[in-house]
Amino acid sequence: MYTDLLFYIDGQWTAGSAGNTAAVLNPSTGETLGQLPLASSDDLDTALAAAASGFETWSATSAFDRSGILRRVAALVRDRHALMAECMTLDQGKPLAESTMEAKSAADHIEWYAEEGRRAYGRIVPSRHAAVRQLVVREPVGPVAAFTPWNFPINQAVRKIAGALAAGCSIIIKGPEEAPGAVIELVRCFHDAGVPKGVLNLVFGNPAHVSEYLIRSPVIRKVSFTGSTAVGRQLGALAATHLKLTTMELGGHAPFIVCADADVEAAAALACALKFRNAGQVCASPSRFYVHDDVFDLFARRFTELAVQLKVGDGFDPSSQMGPLANARRLMMVQELIADARDLGATVLTGGNRIGATGHFFEPTLLTDLPKQARLLNEEPFGPVAPLLRFNDLDSVIAQANSLEYGLAAFAFTRSLKTATELGNRLQAGMVSINHFGLALPETPFGGIKASGHGSEGGTEGLDAYLTTKFISQAGL
Ligand code: NAD
Repeated sequence: MYTDLLFYIDGQWTAGSAGNTAAVLNPSTGETLGQLPLASSDDLDTALAAAASGFETWSATSAFDRSGILRRVAALVRDRHALMAECMTLDQGKPLAESTMEAKSAADHIEWYAEEGRRAYGRIVPSRHAAVRQLVVREPVGPVAAFTPWNFPINQAVRKIAGALAAGCSIIIKGPEEAPGAVIELVRCFHDAGVPKGVLNLVFGNPAHVSEYLIRSPVIRKVSFTGSTAVGRQLGALAATHLKLTTMELGGHAPFIVCADADVEAAAALACALKFRNAGQVCASPSRFYVHDDVFDLFARRFTELAVQLKVGDGFDPSSQMGPLANARRLMMVQELIADARDLGATVLTGGNRIGATGHFFEPTLLTDLPKQARLLNEEPFGPVAPLLRFNDLDSVIAQANSLEYGLAAFAFTRSLKTATELGNRLQAGMVSINHFGLALPETPFGGIKASGHGSEGGTEGLDAYLTTKFISQAGL
């Protein structure tokens, strides 16, 4: 069921030159799934040379033809989604239903970019002289270096690959070493659909070595990273030194505000679905629940009842609604954050413990009575933990919601149009979702502000990220 663990460089599948490998583990069982090759500097040089020549080929291919190839990729992804989903559940742990949804939606993202790439319009600016024509043209930025994480192995990779290719760029992507299987199968679809060699290259390796080597290279013109704020700062600083454009999709700590006039039942159901999806390892996951005093008890009771009913288990068990945490680091971090909250007097409404000794399973956890300084309220939890807090007036809850350095997603429930408008306007987040979950569609921008990064993936903005503007002023016609 699992895949051969290889790089894809210059149209070839290869185990690289160094012979260094890392074990890929199943987070549900602890078993080793395979050995992943790790790139040497020589492998990266080969990938850079391939991306440089791939860019020559691909940027000279018409947007119409690029679109046709990307549509073929989307069709292959739809046909093969089951294999990608199985790989993801094996090495990342999420329930097969979640993996399947993620793999299928990759085809939607590719189709969106296949269409949008044909609309990289420029414009003509009226000139001051009859004999002058002023053109604004949009051009692909050049070879891209992209770094994607393990929480959504397909989704994080496909948005970068499809965006870059639709714009006419070539790309070297460093996939997630801990969950590489699905990305390899995704890249296979691009190869089999006829993407020319060198246009798309996939490597794995020591993240710090690969990112530093690629970002420094004069071949690379654009850096796109999804991961933690701490790593984003480092890569952003390096990219700035070399004057490379960046898209940074970093961490978040999303407020989820339940007003006194909210549909509390609907809010609790969505809170539970969003909080425990992918075991909470989602950058846009709600992670600070601010609930109005009038409805706090009702919301807390319903949210707790729903969390208690969740079935946690191996992602291949069809009854599992939440899988394990993806790696031992997350398990340790979630335990630390809960211990800190408990030490500071927090009340555990449900959960709080590891499940069993095999795999990284953890109970869906709800806490309340946390003081402001609790780490859980300040550090991104990235796990199945929900802190519940009370509020009384809108101004103070907005101030609290905006008080952290993060600004990725925010959620709110209210039946008042006035309050909804005010929340939409005043919450400091790249994405605000009110009375439902409405984020991460191919046609809408996804991205953060403040320490959650900059730039968007998805929407027309997702294509813009891979284009530069050229002005041509032409006289003597
Ligand atoms: P981490 O900070 O070590 O790594 C985060 C991601 O960045 C991983 O995919 C890792 O391989 C990669 N990375 C690490 N150092 C790198 C480097 N020098 N160059 C290039 N890539 C590098 O943390 P982690 O334990 O793997 O993940 C947990 C944290 O990461 C969470 O707190 C969360 O904030 C963040 N994260 C965010 C997203 C997201 O969607 N924005 C996804 C995954 C992880």
